[in-house]
Amino acid sequence: MTAFSIAPYPIRRVLVANRGEIACRIMRTCRRLGLATVAVYSDADADAPHAREADRAVRIGPAPAAESYLSVDAVLEAARTSGADAIHPGYGFLSENAAFVRRCEEAGLVFVGPTSQAVAAMGSKIEAKKLAEASGVPTVPGYHGDDLSEEGLAATAEQVGYPLLIKASAGGGGRGMRLVERPSDLAAALRSARAEARLAFGNDAVLIERFIRNPRHLEVQLVGDRHGNLVHLFERDCSIQRNNQKLIEEAPAPNLSDTARRRLFEAALKLGKAIGYTSAGTVEFVMEAGAEQPYFLEMNTRLQVEHPVTEAITGIDLVEWQLLVAAGLPLPLSQDRIVAKGHAIEARIAAERADRNFQPSTGRFLEVSAPRDLRFDTGIASGSEIGLSYDSMLAKAIGHGSDREDARKRLVAGLEGLVLLGPPTNQRFLIDCLDAPDFAEGRSTTAFLASRFPEGWTPSPEVVGRARARAAQAALAASGIAAGPWRRADGYRVMGARRPARIEMHVCDDYGEATVVLRAWEGRMEASVDERFLDLDAAPADAVSHDGRIHLSEGGLSLRASVLPAIALSNGRDTAAAKGALASPLPGVIVSIAVAVGDRVERGDLLLQMEAMKLVHSLTAPHPGRVTAIHHAAGDTVAAGAVLVDIAQQEEE
Ligand code: ADP
Ligand code: ADP
Ligand code: MG
Repeated sequence: MTAFSIAPYPIRRVLVANRGEIACRIMRTCRRLGLATVAVYSDADADAPHAREADRAVRIGPAPAAESYLSVDAVLEAARTSGADAIHPGYGFLSENAAFVRRCEEAGLVFVGPTSQAVAAMGSKIEAKKLAEASGVPTVPGYHGDDLSEEGLAATAEQVGYPLLIKASAGGGGRGMRLVERPSDLAAALRSARAEARLAFGNDAVLIERFIRNPRHLEVQLVGDRHGNLVHLFERDCSIQRNNQKLIEEAPAPNLSDTARRRLFEAALKLGKAIGYTSAGTVEFVMEAGAEQPYFLEMNTRLQVEHPVTEAITGIDLVEWQLLVAAGLPLPLSQDRIVAKGHAIEARIAAERADRNFQPSTGRFLEVSAPRDLRFDTGIASGSEIGLSYDSMLAKAIGHGSDREDARKRLVAGLEGLVLLGPPTNQRFLIDCLDAPDFAEGRSTTAFLASRFPEGWTPSPEVVGRARARAAQAALAASGIAAGPWRRADGYRVMGARRPARIEMHVCDDYGEATVVLRAWEGRMEASVDERFLDLDAAPADAVSHDGRIHLSEGGLSLRASVLPAIALSNGRDTAAAKGALASPLPGVIVSIAVAVGDRVERGDLLLQMEAMKLVHSLTAPHPGRVTAIHHAAGDTVAAGAVLVDIAQQEEE
């Protein structure tokens, strides 16, 4: 008999009201505990891993979250039709929606989370701060009273002092915040914060807080049960943020004094006790770097994105504990039996162009594979299509080690070995953050990104260069040219002397373009990328050829590159163009022909497509003119230099 069948609120089948990595992660624990799982999915997620991994999956609506993952009625209906007796909300979406929790309670469903009263009490930052103050928990100095008139706030702002933050009381995910540096900006900032809050959260209540210039974000993991037990699972440091959203998190917090740590635990437990908290929840604080007094920010009444770092150091499965307490069972361990071991660091992987101000990227992932010793919580798999309907976070990588440096190195190695072939992600950017001296020393504050990458991030020339060299090498290996001198990679004999085999390639990718020269020489392969020399492993990288491009991952940078042999291309063009014709730049097969005899073409117009070196190349008119002959048909195999199309030069040329 499992623990759940003897529980006061037996749980047998859990509906996970979420998507992506967190839905997959919750179902993993359910399966381990012998609980049946129900996934819900929108039309955009019909083939998503979370929907495929569940015992049963129920469609709840079209792609927009408001009509699917945020629809209380649709989720409850899915629970009813699937016979679920419990709902786990994950994070985001309905997880902190008190009305949803109430509807679950009314429908007789076990909500895997706290009571609706606790969610309501902490859902408003204003009410939460009042509660914290009443419980004797220090809060960030500011104003969260009832006078929200512009005049009233202006006077209070003077008292709080500048710079200050205006925050949406119902805000979350770093949204609904405005930094105000001087009084003249207050009125406009207030108006736009209110408008944003109304739109994003349906509630325009705001509070103001003193802005702490260089703070650390510290938080305490709590878990409570319905038998009056409340424990902390130590602290996390989540100071590495972008736009007030966490990017890298760790446990325990580095360089934290015993006094500060004790104050964190005391404050969090005080607040948790004050509301009789019963599930996993997180109390968040900011603390000035170097200071010892943490100030309460807010409480998140749900599982946190960064919960795995706590799991790593405590060995506790937080989802399991959530399920146990939701079923009415007592916490398995008392405070004195909960111990932390080692250090863990998590990095959030997002479908973003980190090099282009983090704009979201979209597309299909051809391959997703993680090194075996890395904890990789993912919502995507090979074949997953990423659109713009949801948050750009795809997965999380978690490194766990005996100490902080060990955990950091393991995470860096894990991210370097992680293969994500498809749309660009922030993978390499995360490695560069983890390798930054400030971070390595454990001294970062929320100002980290701005000070580390004041001009924004771009991949280093060394990293891109190596990836391009590997792409050129992979393209070469995939081509027939790799036979002969290339296969043995030991040069070839000309007149008795050993000479290196040499080829020049043109590589074009998301980060720009470069000329790559590859040389094979006595078992070695060497590359120069725009004059920068590199030694290459003679064995080509694992690469996938798709849509005419080479996809590969090198040093944590995923590259999708068009690769063409530069010499062959210009030779073919020059000699043929001189005769008023287009010649094949390399050996290959004609795929399609886009023109007919008699057509007028401009320079650059598409003439035909050919497949060569496993890639499809578009060949265009080298000059304007009239097509006078086509020497091959689709399907023909042609040699390098073969004349394909004759184009009569125009008189004026
Ligand atoms: P955590 O503290 O768990 O890291 P975040 O604030 O980063 O939480 O938010 C976790 C996820 O939930 C993100 O995907 C974020 O966009 C989403 N989220 C958090 N709060 C809200 C909210 N009030 N409304 C909408 N989405 C939210
Ligand atoms: P959210 O609900 O969006 O998570 P929080 O109040 O938790 O809002 O704040 C999110 C982040 O914004 C914090 O982790 C911190 O980096 C920054 N922040 C919030 N309040 C302050 C403050 N008073 N001073 C400086 N930074 C702050
Ligand atoms: Mg927060």
